[in-house]
Amino acid sequence: MTTFDYIIVGAGSAGCVVANRLSEDGAASVLLVEAGALDHSLFIHMPSALSYPMANKKYTWLYESEPEPFMDNRRIHCPRGRVIGGSSSINGMVYVRGHALDYDGWASVSGLEGWSYAHCLPYFRKAETRAQGGDLYRGDAGPLHVSTGACRNPLYRAFIEAGQQAGYPYTADMNGYQQEGLGPMDMTVHKGRRWSTAMAYLRPAWKRKNLTVQIRSLVTRVVFDGHESRRAVGIEVFHRGQLQQLRADKEVILAGGSINSPQLLKLSGVGPVQELQTLGISVTAPLPGVGENLQDHLETYVQFECKQPITLFSALQPLNKLKIGMEWLLFRTGLGATNHFESGGFIRSEPGVRHPDLQYHFLPMAVRYDGKSPATCHGFQAHVGPMRATSRGHVRLRDAKAITPPRILFNYMSTEQDRKEMRAAVRLTREIFQQTAFDAFRGAELSPGASVQSDEAIDAHIRAHAETAYHPAGTCRMGTDEMAVTDALGQVHGVERLRVIDASIMPRVVSGNLNAPTIMMAEKLSDAIRGRVPMLPMTVPVFEHPNYMSEQR
Ligand SMILES: Cc1cc2nc3c(=O)[nH]c(=O)nc-3n(C[C@H](O)[C@H](O)[C@H](O)COP(=O)(O)OP(=O)(O)OC[C@H]3O[C@@H](n4cnc5c(N)ncnc54)[C@H](O)[C@@H]3O)c2cc1C
Repeated sequence: MTTFDYIIVGAGSAGCVVANRLSEDGAASVLLVEAGALDHSLFIHMPSALSYPMANKKYTWLYESEPEPFMDNRRIHCPRGRVIGGSSSINGMVYVRGHALDYDGWASVSGLEGWSYAHCLPYFRKAETRAQGGDLYRGDAGPLHVSTGACRNPLYRAFIEAGQQAGYPYTADMNGYQQEGLGPMDMTVHKGRRWSTAMAYLRPAWKRKNLTVQIRSLVTRVVFDGHESRRAVGIEVFHRGQLQQLRADKEVILAGGSINSPQLLKLSGVGPVQELQTLGISVTAPLPGVGENLQDHLETYVQFECKQPITLFSALQPLNKLKIGMEWLLFRTGLGATNHFESGGFIRSEPGVRHPDLQYHFLPMAVRYDGKSPATCHGFQAHVGPMRATSRGHVRLRDAKAITPPRILFNYMSTEQDRKEMRAAVRLTREIFQQTAFDAFRGAELSPGASVQSDEAIDAHIRAHAETAYHPAGTCRMGTDEMAVTDALGQVHGVERLRVIDASIMPRVVSGNLNAPTIMMAEKLSDAIRGRVPMLPMTVPVFEHPNYMSEQR
């Protein structure tokens, strides 16, 4: 049996980081196993093509939720990357870290003290190189290149200006001192190309003699030492039509993401006893929290017609598409070199909310994120939705086979609190679009539509049309209570030498997109695995609205 020191399952946002860091000093032998293939597709690397890879079964686990009971029983699309770079190779490339208080919230849980913002910030900085240069908050020497939208289209600027007219602050850097407010957005795009973790972390490490990358290999279970033992010693992999076993002398690290990591734990006998026994899986370690605590960001699009022909609708015409494609192929510039999410921001839904609970991504086009219903006219839209939903769902096995998609239920909008925030999201967004900055552009409201005004009508619209922002998290959450799955270092409770490092270990989803936080966590836990002294915490000022208790803006 082939033996390594560490085996990492999943070459995604977290897995590529861990593979790079564990192999960088040449001391340990590392195997990175990925179910998907290489990322050899222009549609992955060209930022503006983002809606293609997320809908392509060659690069994506095209999961769907179970019928969602509070969403008119709709099944919600849940794609996850299945390619090197994982979801960072199919995502929207938005670079957002979340709010400092998210991490302080994690650290308020007993046992998780080391996850405060002060402890996380050095690792955000370590990971990053910001094109505009680093500062107290931002990195300038890390593998993950981050650039800022140029906001050339006047609609991007109109959105920011309208925010100010409505009384919200301008924020020059929502990943720095001040998240709250509207401003330009950052993207993981470097020299006009998507900067996935495959580009940032895996490619620079690929040629190291102590790193082996095995693609097109589905890990079917973690292997434990003997029948009664709880010590992980390797994995079972389905590769080229055969099952093989590979051995890890030090640790097995699961980095399969929020859907697949809990699935794999359960397939390995680590999970809720009754669920495992019903499916005939023998229990290695009873752990009731595996697959529970599923959280996500649900969002809706507020869309208006645009009176001027300046939107990206023109870019959809075949000749223009060709021109954009040629410019990108030749120079890596132009509309092909952006994810189009160049302005956006964060606001609070009501007084009393301490830090923003609504996020905006503005787009100078009226279209669905996944490109499913093409734009029919010039328009613009804001994606908006609650950041800290109280609804909880789960990932449960359908059967005992690794190739069977698990049952995923988000329970979106199952609480009155979430519905209330969504109503506020729609109304506050309409108010921004009614500001004078949009007078020259604003036509009719396309969605939800002028007639959708009452609470009941907005609720019905959300049930029928809201979509995910693709941020599942929390299914193997860190903690010390009986429903926690790992400790603060990602080590799975009740077993030895088995860790989870990916978005599933977040105790609570952060207020923002998940790629940057997942990379930060992987950087931090790589240091822990290597036994390195953690980077020194950095205490920095963070903006909080001085009158947040009494004022919404
Ligand atoms: C369509 C979409 C758009 C998004 N947009 C953004 C955005 O704009 N900005 C942002 O910050 N975040 C975004 N996200 C979220 C973010 O990309 C993810 O939260 C993050 O990449 C998750 O990282 P991860 O390491 O947890 O898992 P992943 O990156 O999903 O990696 C898991 C890897 O493990 C592999 N794997 C799983 N199971 C097995 C197995 N059994 N055997 C072998 N390999 C396995 C998978 O194939 C995959 O490569 C988006 C996500 C999606 C899907």
